[in-house]
Amino acid sequence: MFDVLALTLEGRPPLNPVGQLPHLDWQWHGEGVLELSPRHACEKAVVISAGVHGNETAPIELLNQLVAELLAGSRPLNVRLLVVLGNPPSMRANKRYLHADMNRMFGGRHARFDVSDETVRAQELEQLLAEFYHNASAAGATQRFHYDLHTAIRGSLHLRFGLLPFQPRPYSAEMLHWLEQAGLDALVYHRSPGGTFTHFSSEVFQAESCTLELGKALPFGHNELSQFRQIRQALEALVSDLAPPQRRGESLKHYQVVQDIIREQPDFVLNISPEALNFTAYPQGYILAEQSGKIYRVEHAEEVVLFPNPNVALGLRAGLMLTLKD
Ligand SMILES: [Zn+2]
Repeated sequence: MFDVLALTLEGRPPLNPVGQLPHLDWQWHGEGVLELSPRHACEKAVVISAGVHGNETAPIELLNQLVAELLAGSRPLNVRLLVVLGNPPSMRANKRYLHADMNRMFGGRHARFDVSDETVRAQELEQLLAEFYHNASAAGATQRFHYDLHTAIRGSLHLRFGLLPFQPRPYSAEMLHWLEQAGLDALVYHRSPGGTFTHFSSEVFQAESCTLELGKALPFGHNELSQFRQIRQALEALVSDLAPPQRRGESLKHYQVVQDIIREQPDFVLNISPEALNFTAYPQGYILAEQSGKIYRVEHAEEVVLFPNPNVALGLRAGLMLTLKD
């Protein structure tokens, strides 16, 4: 059988775009996008994506191994599965992105960016998800999931965490249970819409979606995949439609976003050290950022920071502040 990651890095498709194996049908929908369907009816339509940021290699390798096992027939497939390697040109260059961050472009926001490989790809992936979920529903699937796998650039006090997109409906108990069993240390609940892949799938297709940050980004071949054992086992259970293995260790912490720090003025100053780890706490009253006409202070007894970045373009988010959810 072919190797999805190798073909994608070489920039060539498999010899045939569709094929049948004794246990499943597969279809290559475009660079790095492979659909796998069992021959029996399934409840679940699952999208697993990685490489939306091209240098976040560990989840790409993890996903590729899982697909190899499914193709080889050594692991049963009991969901309709769409595997997406998000940004192949940036994967080849081992860069987060080549022109602009694709994970701000979904939900049609690519139209606000200069046209590039990434805006074209974001649009293509939107279309492919629409077709996948539509066809899965037509074939009888009643549940939709999307997990988008990442690793962080910045160090973090919680090594593995999930980011739940803002959605007006409740998050499914089944997804929250799976996230708990996947060995994450924390879950962050967004309070406003965004251009992420998972916000798009949640909003447009009502998928149960979560962005997973699984550790630190390293080049291909340098990842300690053993660090990712729990998430790997949870993904294995997901594709075979089995109960995930029991969580080990401390319980999951739940955080809500309480402030979005936006860089609105050229004189914007962020008073958070460039070395600050994600989830570093700041006390009430601390001045987080200043600019003409606006000061951001810690309002609660304590707030922790996520993704601080003073160098974003005007109008974009320079960081999120969180509190523990009650
Ligand atoms: Zn990422």
